[in-house]
Amino acid sequence: MKRTLVAAAALFFAAGAFAQAFPTKPISLYVPFAAGGPTDTVARQLAIAMGKAIGQTIIVENVPGAGGTIAPAKLKGQTPDGHTLMLAHIGMSTAPALYRSLPFKPLDDFEYIGQVVDVPMTFVARKDFPPTDFKGMVDYVKKNKDKVTYANAGLGAASHLCGLLFLSAIEADVTTVPYKGTAPAMNDILGGQVDFMCDQTTNTTGYIKSGRIKSYAVTSKTRVESLKELPPAAEAGLPGFEVSVWHGVYAPKGTPKPVIDKLVAALQASIADAQFVAKMNELGSQVVSKDKATPEGLRNHLKAEIDKWTPIIRKAGQYAD
Ligand code: ASP
Repeated sequence: MKRTLVAAAALFFAAGAFAQAFPTKPISLYVPFAAGGPTDTVARQLAIAMGKAIGQTIIVENVPGAGGTIAPAKLKGQTPDGHTLMLAHIGMSTAPALYRSLPFKPLDDFEYIGQVVDVPMTFVARKDFPPTDFKGMVDYVKKNKDKVTYANAGLGAASHLCGLLFLSAIEADVTTVPYKGTAPAMNDILGGQVDFMCDQTTNTTGYIKSGRIKSYAVTSKTRVESLKELPPAAEAGLPGFEVSVWHGVYAPKGTPKPVIDKLVAALQASIADAQFVAKMNELGSQVVSKDKATPEGLRNHLKAEIDKWTPIIRKAGQYAD
């Protein structure tokens, strides 16, 4: 008995000492999509801010594929010591309704560090796509549904969700073209090989501002400060249409509490970091409030979003696969 107690105490102090030392090496931050895209952009800014706060380099590692579901499956198998993390988005809550079987359980297989940022989406198209406003775009897609193509980042991506909701709302089943992220999808929009997509402002803002693509509407309830010229889709013809791409940081299940606490503190510092906040705002995004950048803030939201999207996706099911 005594020996067990001593062993338990030794373990406890070892975990404490380990947590005090953490981080002992650079931290990897998985991104479930291709480099250069919207999630990657948020991750690279977050890596700078969190790295500064925690005193270690945070290296972004792109683990794209299967609509963003490969990265969480990979994270699940990593050593739970805080040195491997993942930044994932709304897809964590839509994948359970989209996949017959997933290699991870969003609500059981992870430790939850906190939410980071909410990102609106934008309807954009190749520069010579004929319609000039949102209403015209809706009519054009409906009329030309057999020849129009929609780009997305795979089943479970935000661009997939937005397309699914949009195409089901206008009852047009068009050909969809999946990519490993909206960075490569954007290349094909720029090159004119694919017609349109709904993508996050963290990827589209620069292209919209430089006039290299056409833009029609945002998916937020109200106008986005940095893209004031675009109406919300809900006001421009699709009442009630709203998609906000929330993001969260995850760690493998079993990461010690003192390590989680350090990561949460670094996340809290990041959402208050003037440079991070300014960059996110410039890209049309909003960092979350302090109460959301917590383990409960992320897990509760994830649960609420799974409950929200599952019936909607099942109902819209046939579109944009
Ligand atoms: N977030 C994805 C990316 O970074 C795109 C998407 O979810 O639609 O490419």
